[in-house]
This record gives sequence, C-alpha cells and structure tokens, in this order.
Amino acid sequence: MPLYMLCPHCEHPQIVPVRRRGRPQFCRQCGRAYVPSKIREQAQPLPISSISEMQEYARPAETRVFVLD
Ligand SMILES: [Zn+2]
Repeated sequence: MPLYMLCPHCEHPQIVPVRRRGRPQFCRQCGRAYVPSKIREQAQPLPISSISEMQEYARPAETRVFVLD
C-alpha cells in the first residue's frame, strides 16, 4: 500500500510507493528532497535539491571526496 504524506518542505501531498520508503524522493511541488520513513507516515527533509546532489548523498561515506578550494 502506498504511503500518503506531506512534503516536509512545502507540505504538498505526496504519494510514495512502498518500495521507495527509506530512499530519497523529490517533491513534485517544490523539487526539494526528503526521505520517507519506513515505519511512520512522515519524512525527513534532506538538504539537497538535485539528482546530482542526491547521488553525492547516496554515496557511501568512506568513498566521499571533498574538494576544498
Ligand atoms: Zn515540497
């Protein structure tokens, strides 16, 4: 059964398929990212707003590279 919840950024209603719970999603209204909880009908906001930033976020911590300039 899909998860019905509100975007944690703009409160736009979201429908999340069960298999996508716990994975980063993007709000169709504001385009910002959130992660639907696997156990509750709510989501954690993520401080990213694009696919490329999500790939950065999803990468395992030990392989992250930080470029300082
Ligand atoms: Zn939103």
